[in-house]
Amino acid sequence: MSDTLPSQSTTALLAALPIPALLVGADGRVLMANTHMRDLLGSAVARGQPYVSVLRQPALVDALEATLKDATPRKTRYLAQSGSKESVYEAFCAPAAPEGSVLISFLDISDLEQAGQMRRDFVANVSHELRTPLTSLMGFIETLQGPAKDDAAARAQFLGIMASEAARMERLVSDLLSLSRVEAEERLPLRDTVELGPLLSSVRNTLAARAEEAGVTLVAELPEESIELLAHADQLLQVFTNLIENAIKYGGAGGKVVVKLRRADGQPALRGQSGALVSVTDFGAGIDPLHIPRLTERFYRVDSHRSREVGGTGLGLAIVKHIVQRHRGRLKIESELGKGTEFSVLLPLGV
Ligand code: ADP
Repeated sequence: MSDTLPSQSTTALLAALPIPALLVGADGRVLMANTHMRDLLGSAVARGQPYVSVLRQPALVDALEATLKDATPRKTRYLAQSGSKESVYEAFCAPAAPEGSVLISFLDISDLEQAGQMRRDFVANVSHELRTPLTSLMGFIETLQGPAKDDAAARAQFLGIMASEAARMERLVSDLLSLSRVEAEERLPLRDTVELGPLLSSVRNTLAARAEEAGVTLVAELPEESIELLAHADQLLQVFTNLIENAIKYGGAGGKVVVKLRRADGQPALRGQSGALVSVTDFGAGIDPLHIPRLTERFYRVDSHRSREVGGTGLGLAIVKHIVQRHRGRLKIESELGKGTEFSVLLPLGV
């Protein structure tokens, strides 16, 4: 066998790699591509093809050319489009056997890139959310130090606004802390034995005044039988507080919010385990189906102005989703415009 062709062991090794790999000979022609490489390129790659006709991205072509010349390893980015999905790869060029050849291997770093982007977006969102009340606070402080210094009426009015802006910042920070705590504890075992009926009663009692203020009748339909599960009690309390508060805040126009608890055995999502279903239903304006899949994203709001008006942070449902996941449950959102919305939480009882 000619020493310009890959040996049998090199061929076997490339075929066994779990990532795309392409071996280019010293003459700049393809020696071998594994199956993952062919999938990545989405076209046939034949031995003997010049590499420029296979790899069409200048950055990679330059890196490969340089490594073919000086046998120094290099890495570069490679973008691949498959349908509507764009993937980002790190492409490594390294000298290989036979003599003078270069092996290019591709590591998919799309998830890493996406996580980085999400982190940057999150920081930008938090900064933006904090900046608005902060700017307003600074404006009022300046006014109180200057033009309104001796105006008692203005001072009382401005201090009222400042207190509500500060409260908004406090809610945001407290929701951010909740979210990070839930994330940090995601893998800790659940230790509290929680009875769902009494837990829901206590949420109802806590929110009774709030409901009354909003002209909403809060109805809890709880069964006689006890429904127990292993859970994180404070976190479950937060889930139902957030859902019922939202129903009052956004669906209160319907005049009634119904909280229902029942056993839900035999649901496919429970895979044979017994379960409990808690639903929170309002009869308000409802949510356009367009928004439903995105409601649990951090800072996603249907109407930002309205959310701020009622003291929302845009984090409530993100927290709910995390906690429900930690309890291996499912959150379902059903809504009809003009009729109302139902949030239901299915919890397995045998965790
Ligand atoms: P917020 O702090 O803004 O209330 P959430 O994450 O709790 O944030 O909710 C996200 C958005 O979902 C809200 O801004 C609101 O637009 C919408 N929403 C939540 N619950 C309801 C509901 N019961 N009826 C109508 N819209 C709702």
